[in-house]
Amino acid sequence: MTGSLPAGYHSPQLDVEVRLNTNESPWPPPPDFARQLSDELARVDLHRYPEREAVKLREAVAGRHGVEASQVFCSNGSNEAIQLLLSVRGGAGKTAALFTPTYTLHSHLSRLTGTQVVAHPRGDDFRLSPELVKEVVVSGSPDVVFLCIPNNPTGTLDEPAVIDAALSGSSLVVVDEAYGEFGGVPSAAPRVAHEDVAVVRTFSKAWAMAGLRLGYAVADQDLVTAMFDRALPYHLDVAKQLAGRLALSYESEMAERVERIVSERARALTELRGLAETVWDSAANFILFRPAAPAKAVWDGLVERSVLVRDLSSLPGLEGCLRVTIGTPADNDRFLEALGEIVAGSAGMTPPRK
Ligand code: PMP
Repeated sequence: MTGSLPAGYHSPQLDVEVRLNTNESPWPPPPDFARQLSDELARVDLHRYPEREAVKLREAVAGRHGVEASQVFCSNGSNEAIQLLLSVRGGAGKTAALFTPTYTLHSHLSRLTGTQVVAHPRGDDFRLSPELVKEVVVSGSPDVVFLCIPNNPTGTLDEPAVIDAALSGSSLVVVDEAYGEFGGVPSAAPRVAHEDVAVVRTFSKAWAMAGLRLGYAVADQDLVTAMFDRALPYHLDVAKQLAGRLALSYESEMAERVERIVSERARALTELRGLAETVWDSAANFILFRPAAPAKAVWDGLVERSVLVRDLSSLPGLEGCLRVTIGTPADNDRFLEALGEIVAGSAGMTPPRK
């Protein structure tokens, strides 16, 4: 089956007070950003098509990564960039290797583009070793290899040696850095100049613009050209092009927002360790944990207290696990208090099957 999203992909959009289920920024962009964006939009000729190749936005993104604008493809969320990369280097008769558990859309979009998915389980504590990656690439010769650094939903930060290992064969190595800003390590983007690497990034997380749907890929110029060949005409609307350029001029505000989230992550990690059976370290804006009580019962208990987290317990390798997005300090307090109440009341619950 290739059509519908895999079971467990869509998180329910319930009407709750504390939404910690989709890894968004808990804060919107600064008020000045919103004002400037609406002022600039008011001056745009909305009856005209947008600039087709989004050159100014691509130049701005390129400047941020020290690459050429010709090596940047901007997209409707980073999912579109992933899909186009697959339509160029995947497709019928091609294979994509990935390491699970990871971002579900990598396999879904592979299948949608007719690419056969070959999934390999990650190692202990979801870590990925260069040896495993090299073995997969050398023995399977996949056309595309997906890495997700930091990895969603585990929060694992794989070392750059894993990228080196993925380059052992002739695969395109797609490095999904949707959460890269939270990891505190440099982007792999400069590698595209001399290696078969495509880096995918988004404005949905650290940049706090999930509603605007803007992402991008940094890749070899010929690959970018091939992505343009497959994109719909005028695929990137004026509002996105403006918003992206404007956002990049608020870089210090973004960095400050990331700092606050990272410090809340440290606090939540410490407190969660006293409330859950297993808590995994995270380099992203979320934390994966396994409560001592059954995940569904804990998830229900949180919803009853108007806190929504992501139930991942039906996914292979994630039995009994939930994922919580880092919110505002008040959101995180609400979550931790609610979980504390559930834990205190659940002494009699059956522990999860491991
Ligand atoms: N990559 C990863 C790893 C993600 O978790 C997400 C969103 N959850 C995306 C890409 C897609 O983000 P968007 O399409 O909003 O840019």
